Amino acid sequence: MDSKKLHIAILASPGLGHLIPVLVLGNRLASLHDVKITILVITTTTSHAESQMLKPPSGEKLVDILPIPPPDISHLIDANTNMVTQLCIMVREALPGVRSTIACLKPRPDVLIGDLFCSEAFPIATEFGMPMYLYVPSTAWFTALTTYCPILHEQIDGQYVDQVEPLKIPGCKSVRPEDVVDPMLDRNEQQYREYLRIGIEFKFGDGILMNTWEDLEPISLEALRKNESLGAVVKRPVYPIGPLRRPIEPEGPKSELIKWLDMQPKDSVIFVSFGSGGTLSAQQISELAWGLELSQQRFIWVVRPPAKSGADESFFTSGSGSDGTPDYLPEGFLTRTKKSGLVEPLWTEQVEILNHPSVGGFLSHCGWNSTLESITSGVPMIAWPLYAEQRLNATMLTEELCIAVRPEVLPSKKVVGREEIEKMVRTVMEYKEGKIMRDKVRKLKISAENALNKGGSSYNNMCDLLKDAELRSKSLKSTSD
Ligand code: UDP
Repeated sequence: MDSKKLHIAILASPGLGHLIPVLVLGNRLASLHDVKITILVITTTTSHAESQMLKPPSGEKLVDILPIPPPDISHLIDANTNMVTQLCIMVREALPGVRSTIACLKPRPDVLIGDLFCSEAFPIATEFGMPMYLYVPSTAWFTALTTYCPILHEQIDGQYVDQVEPLKIPGCKSVRPEDVVDPMLDRNEQQYREYLRIGIEFKFGDGILMNTWEDLEPISLEALRKNESLGAVVKRPVYPIGPLRRPIEPEGPKSELIKWLDMQPKDSVIFVSFGSGGTLSAQQISELAWGLELSQQRFIWVVRPPAKSGADESFFTSGSGSDGTPDYLPEGFLTRTKKSGLVEPLWTEQVEILNHPSVGGFLSHCGWNSTLESITSGVPMIAWPLYAEQRLNATMLTEELCIAVRPEVLPSKKVVGREEIEKMVRTVMEYKEGKIMRDKVRKLKISAENALNKGGSSYNNMCDLLKDAELRSKSLKSTSD
């Protein structure tokens, strides 16, 4: 390895939704910008999907991947500790391992990039004389809300969700109280305090990378940069470098699923999936099944057993009907939809499916990776937000970009009925509104490609980031000599 190359270490917090954008960023930096990349992965689970993701694809190895020893946090959490809090604790407890791993790296990295949940690694960067940037694998709007939240905290009394007026962020689209990110739902919880801390720590770094692009979010990006609005709060350069998403797997033998898609007409299949961890209640799964069946559209549905909670508990069985339909799907569903639909348990090749010409719609939980995969495949969506910042994403997709429809109720709060599901599916797949959305999302797909191409805005922003990183790294080294 050429030791004169700029060496960047990228730190990924646990979870596939965090690991995927970091891997994609690392691969892009290594392949297009000739940077040496070491990815430090704080991992706790060894799910099949995660191990697959960490396995270098056949061919040339572009980046080095180093797992950080998983910390034991069992004494710090209990059954009620929510996901964001667990994540923050896990990263905090993993920091000594991150430090010792970096100390042993040869050559020592010149620069550190940490994902959204890794801002507590700043002291490690300082200790080793590395500039440090944060990578927000989400939108500029989300970044704006996160950096502005410490100010909202001072301005607003009571819970955000109880406010009558939208939350104002200078220069940006306001945020409706019901759209706030999960950690803002209850100000008394530890996850809110962690989120506030992250918002404050955004200002300590040397810059903020975001998985968005100039033409997608011109207003929020201008607000983040302009001193008269949010820029004075953010105080750091922002680099929209997206949309970064996983590439299609190189041609190999076709799976049965792709062979099935090959036989379907163009734009005729709706893909239904809720990310790496989204689960629905038993009642909601049943309504969704009925809605898909009533819509009479072709579908591929990644189904997980229902969430184990409260009233749904009794549905949570591992039995199945006489045709193999699991208990949590309507009796005989698999038989009745055999010709028009595929039900995939747990996990499937999402990027390849979305890119297939037969796929014409995506019912998604609006995780940002999934959203970008849909946009860059030119596929309109049904926005079904469940957690994290997905309600913000859904609002942007439906009201600003006009490439999605969404249910009247919030699916995280109420069950969406079969008739409404049928109507949304038909709207996207059959009706004129669907065609208009498809045309819009295909324009966005082109705008995304232009941003990433050599000379495009995201490509140039990445070059600017690297220049800045190199200069800062040299200056830090010269002051420590
Ligand atoms: N994914 C996949 N197959 C599946 C479900 C999810 O490949 O069956 C991938 C999906 O393509 C995306 C990621 O998992 O890249 C999910 O990330 P996202 O930000 O959409 O949601 P999260 O899982 O973080 O909620």
